[in-house]
Amino acid sequence: MSKNKKHFETEAIRTQTETTQFSEHSVPLYLTSGFVFEDAEEMRASFAEEKQRDLYSRYSNPNVNEFVDKVCVLEGAEAGFAFASGMAAVFSTFATLLDAGDHVVSCSSVFGATHGLFTKYFPKWNIECTYFNVGEVDSVESLIQPNTKFIYAETPTNPGVDVLDLEFLSAICKKHDILLVIDNCFATPYLQNPIKHGADLVIHSATKLMDGQGRVLGGVTVGKKELIREIYLFSRLTGPAMSAFNAWVLSKSLETLAVRVEKHCENALKIATYLEAHPKVKWVKYPFLKSHPKHDVAKKQMRLGGNIVAFEVEGGLEGGRSFFDSLKLCSLSANLGDTRTIATHPASTTHAKVEPEVKAAVGITDGMVRVSVGLEHVDDVIADLEQALK
Ligand SMILES: *Cc1c(COP(=O)(O)O)cnc(C)c1O
Repeated sequence: MSKNKKHFETEAIRTQTETTQFSEHSVPLYLTSGFVFEDAEEMRASFAEEKQRDLYSRYSNPNVNEFVDKVCVLEGAEAGFAFASGMAAVFSTFATLLDAGDHVVSCSSVFGATHGLFTKYFPKWNIECTYFNVGEVDSVESLIQPNTKFIYAETPTNPGVDVLDLEFLSAICKKHDILLVIDNCFATPYLQNPIKHGADLVIHSATKLMDGQGRVLGGVTVGKKELIREIYLFSRLTGPAMSAFNAWVLSKSLETLAVRVEKHCENALKIATYLEAHPKVKWVKYPFLKSHPKHDVAKKQMRLGGNIVAFEVEGGLEGGRSFFDSLKLCSLSANLGDTRTIATHPASTTHAKVEPEVKAAVGITDGMVRVSVGLEHVDDVIADLEQALK
């Protein structure tokens, strides 16, 4: 990590691994599974961790190190480990921190696969999870048990675009001597640094805005050195490591994160403002709209509002589906944080089988549409939404 911290954009571009004897300006791709040693003593010292160097790409790799170093600098974290996907980061972090008999308090509005871990796999390892709804943060403290290891949350949430107060959650964790683990995927390190607000570990799906171009999967967990050390030891045995190629792509992507996210947010705010004034739209949720219930919290902890806009079209489930079918430019896809604007209709897709009370708790209504605003010219996206709303 660099000694003299510079601005975000500079760090994202200038945090690099050393180049080779060819002095290339762009860091090359170190596509190698293993690394060679001078002699028996070097190999012994390396395995004993007396010598810091790359041994095997399941443990570390120069491209992966560069990606991790960048994310650490951008998040203000001491250390990190990179994974093959966001879910590999989520799972490996949980598996490292939790023992049988432990308990987690989590916001109910979490990524679908994370919800699946909590409900389908935690019980078989005798790990318990208690959910709180976004509207019930005041009750969070009362959910903590003697065996609670950490509070887990995403903010802004998916797909409801609700906002949770990081300082509020971190104060509860400090008081009860438990950890705060935040999935910061929707905000990216450019918009929000949970560690500055008291989080112990921050998880990202690098697949989303970090790559930003819908090309590669990746994940990363950063935070306190001692915790990352444990996550590293678990991961070097179990093998969820990020590939050198994906790390090389993602390191390049981070160089443009600030300019991309800045434009994503500018477009998203314009679209949210347009939708809010549209007679066929019942409500719009976007953190930087004054109408957002947690607008003050969003302003306090986020630089800009992000690229996800949720809104409700008239006509319930049918209205949502027909709006969705009428889109011409926007893609119907499960990904988000791409250059291309993507729309999803949770009630008929990702959350079709979810009970109505659960849907209501995570902010999903039948006519709700979630848009991941891309980098096309905003007027063209608005024109597409306009014709679909007709
Ligand atoms: C996509 C996503 C994940 C999972 O990431 P993958 O790279 O798809 O495995 C986790 N959390 C959030 C908030 C996400 O949006």
